Amino acid sequence: MECPSCGKQLKLESMDGLAVERCETCAGMWLSVADFGHLIRKADLNSGSAKPLSHAIQVNCPKCQRPLVPFNYAYDSGVFINRCHECDGVWLLAGQLERIASHRVGSPAAQRLGQALGEEIRAENRWRGARMWLRSRVLSASVAVVYLLTAVLTGGLQSLLQAALFLVWPLACIWFPDGMGNLVGVSFGYGRPVVTQQTPGDFVAVGGWILLLSPMVVLAFFL
Ligand SMILES: [Zn+2]
Ligand SMILES: [Zn+2]
Repeated sequence: MECPSCGKQLKLESMDGLAVERCETCAGMWLSVADFGHLIRKADLNSGSAKPLSHAIQVNCPKCQRPLVPFNYAYDSGVFINRCHECDGVWLLAGQLERIASHRVGSPAAQRLGQALGEEIRAENRWRGARMWLRSRVLSASVAVVYLLTAVLTGGLQSLLQAALFLVWPLACIWFPDGMGNLVGVSFGYGRPVVTQQTPGDFVAVGGWILLLSPMVVLAFFL
């Protein structure tokens, strides 16, 4: 095959174990689209320095002599690769492979994607911390103990029992939010089920805390 750029004879060479037809004069190379994809993925790992911008050129396919179709690699890279759709091959000019590799590594779109992913992960971690507190058994139990002590000190045994009875529901919500959320069809003795849909565990836990802290709020209101 002759070089579509300068007309010299192409030489079959091995590149990363792939067969490529290379021109010794202008350093262009011809390879299949599949091999091209393979080379790009490898080049990502050891990208070289950026070469001067390459422009679209009009050349013919070295195999079938049809005009090659230039396309802007990745649409915004500024690297124009000449492709033959008949032979499913690409003609790379000198330095184009390296340019594509550096574009892929330093692409603003890729960097934005990486940033967005990083922020999402950080937000997820923050939420995980909040959930830990939300479902904290130690924290809710401490509040419960304060209630029970206050009750027994101010109202004796009967107040203690009332307080304990009150604490059952909010503590159940905070300690077992997922199990409580799956309770469907609770009727509270009203005949018709009050809870008809599954509730996400986090909502159940929030509800438990509101219930647990409500006496404090009421107390603070009247004091
Ligand atoms: Zn050449
Ligand atoms: Zn062709």
